[in-house]
Amino acid sequence: MKIGVLGAGQLGRMLALAAYPLGHQMRFLALSEEDPSSLLGKTYIHNNSSEIVSNFADNSDVVSYESENTDVTIVREINKNTKVYPSEKSLYISQHRGREKALLNKLQIPCAPFQLVSSLVDLKDAIKNIGLPSILKTLTDGYDGKGQFLIESELQLKEAWGKMSGADAILEGFIKFKRELSLIAVRGIDGCVEYYPLVENSHHKGILRLTMAPAQNISESLEASAKEYMRLLLHEIEHIGVLTIELFESENGLLINEIAPRVHNSGHWTIEGSQTSQFENHIRAITELPLGKTNITKKFSAMINVIGVHGDVSKVLETKNAHLHLYDKEERIDRKLGHITITSNSFEELNQSIDHLKEYLP
Ligand code: AMP
Repeated sequence: MKIGVLGAGQLGRMLALAAYPLGHQMRFLALSEEDPSSLLGKTYIHNNSSEIVSNFADNSDVVSYESENTDVTIVREINKNTKVYPSEKSLYISQHRGREKALLNKLQIPCAPFQLVSSLVDLKDAIKNIGLPSILKTLTDGYDGKGQFLIESELQLKEAWGKMSGADAILEGFIKFKRELSLIAVRGIDGCVEYYPLVENSHHKGILRLTMAPAQNISESLEASAKEYMRLLLHEIEHIGVLTIELFESENGLLINEIAPRVHNSGHWTIEGSQTSQFENHIRAITELPLGKTNITKKFSAMINVIGVHGDVSKVLETKNAHLHLYDKEERIDRKLGHITITSNSFEELNQSIDHLKEYLP
C-alpha cells in the first residue's frame, strides 16, 4: 500500500523503517527537504497550498499523522477521498487539553483538577478553586513541557498569564506524583487491542531522557487500571492505530496527564524489546492487517534519548546489548537526535550498560 504521513520527523522515519519489510511505500507531507523522513519516501513540501495536500492524498491509499498538533482541517479535507487513521476524532480530542480532560471526566478516568482560563480574572478565580501550587498550560500546541508555567505564589499570576501570550489556557492542580508512567496500546480495524507493558519515564527540562520497560514494582491492580483506562478510551473514540497515555502514579493511584494518538517516544524500546514494535503495529492497524503480539523479547529494556549532541557514538556501539538509532538531524540544544535501546535478561547487566552511557543522561 501507499502510506502517507502528515509530518516527516523521526516518528515518520521509524514508521517507514517498519513499513518497508511489509512491502509498503511511503509518502510524507514535510515542512522541508531536510526533515528526518524526507529521504525515506516520496516527499511533498507543505507550502500551505491545497494542491500539494491533494497531490499527497491522491497518491496515498491511507494517511496517518505523527503529531497531535496536526491541523484538523487538513485531515478533514484529506478524509473526503482517502482513509485517515487514527480518525479525525482522535486528533480533535487529543490536541486540546480541555477536550482531553472533558473526555476523561466523562469516562470517570482520574486526572488533575482543572479549570479553563481565558483571562487574568479567570486565572485568579481558578487559583481560588484549585489552589497552589498549580500549572498553567496552553490549551493547544504544547509538547516537551513547552507552553507551561508552574505557579507557586499568587505574586506570579500576572507573569504566568503573560507567558500564555493571550492564548486560551488551562489551570491544572499540581500532582505530587511518585513517578511518571506511560502505556501504549494499539487497536486494529476489527476492534482487537494489544497492550505493551507499563513503562517508567524520567524527564529533564520537560524532555524525556530515560524509559525503563517494563516499569518495576507495578502491582497487578495498577497495571489493570491503566489497561482499563486505555480500553475505555480506545473504545470511546473508536481509535485505529497506536494510542499512548501518559500517567502520574500518585499516593491515590493513577491519573492520566495526556493522551497521544500516535507512536510515542516512550515506546521506542519496542523496536528491539518487543515481538512487534509500536511502529509495525501502527502500520498493521492503519493498513487494516492483523496486529502483532506485544510480548517482550528480553526481561528488561531501557531507552535513552540522544539530546542536543551526538556524543561518543563509538562508545554506544561498543556497549553491551545497546542499539543505536540516529535520526539524521543536526545538533541543536534540546533537540532529539536519536535514541539508544539496551535490552537484557539481567537487571544488573542492564544497569551496567546504562552506567556506561551515563554521559547521555542529565
Ligand atoms: P505535559 O506537557 O503535560 O506532558 O507536561 C510535561 C511535564 O510537566 C510532565 O511530564 C510532568 O513532569 C510535568 N507536569 C505536567 N502536568 C503536571 C501536573 N498537573 N502536576 C505535576 N506535574 C505536571
